[in-house]
Amino acid sequence: QKAQMAGAREERILVVVRLRPLSDKEIIANEVADWECINDNTILYRNTLREGSTFPSAYTFDRVFRGDCLTKQVYEEGAKEVAVSVVNGINSTIFAYGQTSSGKTYTMTGITEYTVADIFDYINRERAFVLKFSAIEIYNEAIRDLLSSENTQLKPRDDPERGLIVEKVIEEVLRDWNHLKELLSICEAQRKIGETSLNERSSRSHRIIRLTIESSAREFLGKENSTTLAASVNFVDLAGSEQASQSLSTEARLKEGCHINRSLLTLSTVIRKLSKGRQGHINYRDSKLTLILQPCLGGNARTAIICTLSPARSHVEQTRNTLLFACCAK
Ligand code: ADP
Ligand code: MG
Repeated sequence: QKAQMAGAREERILVVVRLRPLSDKEIIANEVADWECINDNTILYRNTLREGSTFPSAYTFDRVFRGDCLTKQVYEEGAKEVAVSVVNGINSTIFAYGQTSSGKTYTMTGITEYTVADIFDYINRERAFVLKFSAIEIYNEAIRDLLSSENTQLKPRDDPERGLIVEKVIEEVLRDWNHLKELLSICEAQRKIGETSLNERSSRSHRIIRLTIESSAREFLGKENSTTLAASVNFVDLAGSEQASQSLSTEARLKEGCHINRSLLTLSTVIRKLSKGRQGHINYRDSKLTLILQPCLGGNARTAIICTLSPARSHVEQTRNTLLFACCAK
């Protein structure tokens, strides 16, 4: 397993899976858990009623986390190495992918906090760093700032010096842990404001929290002409993966007023191409999500995908779809 984690250093996409426990509500409704992590790398579908069915029952990844694993462990073994590469000037992106209610937000929030704690720890030792925080939401291909109710029409733009940026996005210099908590709750409150209902919106939108470290060598700090190095880590809480599912007929989709989520579909294509080696044309520009993340995907950037799964029997189709996406990414 050590060797496989080290593999992430060679720019491979790190793919891990996290199973959540059955919720109290599911237990009361007599739901059955059909998925089990049989070791650190393999998750197994066990449903005696479906024995002999044609789809594979065992799936193998860099790491799988059981329902009783704490987020701290998911962070340490499934995300930390990619996330903290930012202190060495390397861009990175961590995705949470899975159906609505599978645990994306739960997992991503914890991982963001653990990363900030580790970065602060590092910064306190090496004082020549500034840590910046920004947060956006992409909903129906429109970008809004989660730190301000006024910034609702943000635009990505190619900057000659800084590369691709999101124009006018608010970047707060993070002072300390309490400041982070404050900003996260502003984001949460902003997220709840929207013209559509919260559930619909949060299952159809992508949230990106970006931490940017700007650093200069100690001896040059505060001096003119000191070169600053900037790198970012992105925490991406994706729209529910059911948004990419093609299972609904066009008619049904129109009736429900929901259309296929372009950013999520483009992301699947981009991830599939990246996982096959990073040559050839990659269609980053086909969606806002991939466009904004482009500097932090591919190239020298590091990527980790945490696929979150519900163990419930009634969710088996979506769980399988998530696992198929995860298999394509590795
Ligand atoms: P999503 O963002 O994918 O829609 P959430 O993160 O909101 O899902 O999780 C749905 C519910 O399940 C929440 O109430 C959350 O607290 C709970 N939950 C998710 N993952 C876990 C877990 N690993 N352990 C315990 N509770 C979890
Ligand atoms: Mg969520």
